[in-house]
Amino acid sequence: MLSDPVATIKGVGEKLEADLFGLGIETVEDLLFYFPFRYDIFEIKPLHQLIHEDKVTIEGKVIGNPSLVFYGKRKSKLSVNVQVENVVVKAVMFNRAFAKKQLQDGDVVTFTGKWDQHRLQITVQNYKKGPASSQNPIEPVYPLRGSVTNIQLKKLMKTALTQYKTDLVEIFPDSYLTSYKLPSRVEAIRQLHFPSNHMKLKHARRRFIYEEFLLFQLKMTLLRKQNRETTSGGSQTIDEHKVEKFIQTLPFPLTNAQTKSLKEILEDMKSPYRMNRLLQGDVGSGKTVVAAIGLYAAKSAGNQGALMVPTEILAEQHYDSLKNTFDDTVSIALLTGSVKGKKRKEILEKVAQKEIDILIGTHALIQEDVVFNQLGLVIVDEQHRFGVEQRRILRDKGLYPDVLFMTATPIPRTLAITAFGDMDVSIIDEMPAGRKEVKTYWAKENMLDRVLTFIQSEVEQGYQAYFICPLIEESDKLDIQNAVDLFHQLEEYYQPSIKVGLMHGRLHTDEKEEVMKAFANNDIQILVSTTVVEVGVNVPNATVMVIYDAERFGLSQLHQLRGRVGRGDAQSHCILIADPKGEVGKERMKIMTETSNGFELSEEDLKLRGPGDFFGKKQSGLPEFKIADMVHDYRALETARVDAQEIVSKQLLDDPSFLALKKILLHDPTMQGAVLD
Ligand code: ADP
Ligand code: MG
Repeated sequence: MLSDPVATIKGVGEKLEADLFGLGIETVEDLLFYFPFRYDIFEIKPLHQLIHEDKVTIEGKVIGNPSLVFYGKRKSKLSVNVQVENVVVKAVMFNRAFAKKQLQDGDVVTFTGKWDQHRLQITVQNYKKGPASSQNPIEPVYPLRGSVTNIQLKKLMKTALTQYKTDLVEIFPDSYLTSYKLPSRVEAIRQLHFPSNHMKLKHARRRFIYEEFLLFQLKMTLLRKQNRETTSGGSQTIDEHKVEKFIQTLPFPLTNAQTKSLKEILEDMKSPYRMNRLLQGDVGSGKTVVAAIGLYAAKSAGNQGALMVPTEILAEQHYDSLKNTFDDTVSIALLTGSVKGKKRKEILEKVAQKEIDILIGTHALIQEDVVFNQLGLVIVDEQHRFGVEQRRILRDKGLYPDVLFMTATPIPRTLAITAFGDMDVSIIDEMPAGRKEVKTYWAKENMLDRVLTFIQSEVEQGYQAYFICPLIEESDKLDIQNAVDLFHQLEEYYQPSIKVGLMHGRLHTDEKEEVMKAFANNDIQILVSTTVVEVGVNVPNATVMVIYDAERFGLSQLHQLRGRVGRGDAQSHCILIADPKGEVGKERMKIMTETSNGFELSEEDLKLRGPGDFFGKKQSGLPEFKIADMVHDYRALETARVDAQEIVSKQLLDDPSFLALKKILLHDPTMQGAVLD
């Protein structure tokens, strides 16, 4: 059986078993599904087809003896002339002095490494004696740790495959294999470990990419279905008339996108199943208003609501603005870490007595000992800052409110259907009318004088500006403009007429609040800050956003920062100060100046950075795939989603041809308690 311990494979002794454990390999299945992370390709191309800086393989005859030079501390460079197609090229190896003895005049050797077209030189990563044709052309390279070697693993794979090939049963029905032209499971495993050629390897990978995605999408679809069907009794009796009247009191009509999202949210709240919805919308698209209406609707149904945000500053801002939005029939309170002692106790008591309808705070709201009387709706703002634990925490506390996640980071569709595959999604893809686009410029540091003069003139017209820096204090490692230094410089430059403030994450909460208030009241005209102002801060009078070392931020983050301006009626500006070295960096600055659509930017960001980085690895909660890549294999992900939906809606898992697939799902720990029938 595939679940047998690895030690049942011939040749695995205690020592090797322990080493394999170190790689996370405990069973035969773990071993067979321990895939190479890359393949070395020993495919020789004619010299004239080699591309500068590409990884290439060449075969040639060593001329003379290699020369070895030592430098620095235990560093060495070995150079050897090699004749390739009547041309002499140079092979260079670093810190591999031992190779000198192995490469002798007249030897035929195959080198793999990085090609320098201008110098006709290869920087060798790998070499093998003998002509390339005598070698396996595609060589798997496994991720290694401890003393296990690549050769050892290969040998082990061979034995395991022979011993266990009959256990590698197919999990797809035949119809899938034929219509998608996929190799069988056992054949695909064999090809991944011992590729016979490029084509076969490609199809083997394609099979497992699809397999991973299909299993994932099936899980998500089943969990979503379960969530809908097994949480009854949660229907809220909303007073629609009251809600409609409340909407009339807003100073503006809702956009179509807001109305549509709101309708989806209210439908969820009214229906018996528990809402698990993501509200996506660009910065300033008006999510907060929709949230406010949702909270009002919960109150109209006689329930309580909670709004959770990532920072105390934001909590305070939301509290202030909601207090003004609601009439006195709604009682609302702020609960953050800085609300302590008697005040806190009083709030907690009132919440428990349902004397408070809506509680606003950081995510600690649901983690601490807050006891709600009748919690109907929880709204979580900036979901990606929270991680994905919230629902579980709520469930563990015995609470089953409707839950709405909001994010101003427009999540690329690719990621949304993956990371949030078990959620319903509403999108506000329309800006309120009359909003002026923020003009974005890219400036080099030597243009700073002009930037400063420009800001002076904006301030003289009554407006305000942000300066954002990546770091708080000087770091000797990185030469980055830092907030504290910049604050002092600007203070000096603009004194005495223009007041400058400083804001960063290490300030005490009171100090932060004080600075923020001063900025909101225009007592401070220029705010120097780290990215703590990134999320949600709302000062409509600010019209300039200057971002230092802009190349250090991701596109989505830059877009978030840019969203801090352009909130009032005046034309706003965003100035990116950056001197990116590479092409990618330059490209990113250019994209920023050309695109104001958050969704487009996030797609670009994803392409440039990859999904792990997009959310920040730890918090992402993104599923980890072994060989599939959500960005690159996006098409397969979509196909898998459609197939998963069909399998679930037509209840195909009960069909004998899906039995093996169903078994895998049943054994999946994340599917505990899910209904598969
Ligand atoms: P988000 O939370 O999506 O960033 P907000 O809800 O904070 O956006 O809205 C940004 C600004 O736009 C706020 O000042 C808000 O009052 C205003 N606003 C929201 N919806 C509309 C609308 N339909 N028409 C005009 N202004 C709106
Ligand atoms: Mg907001």
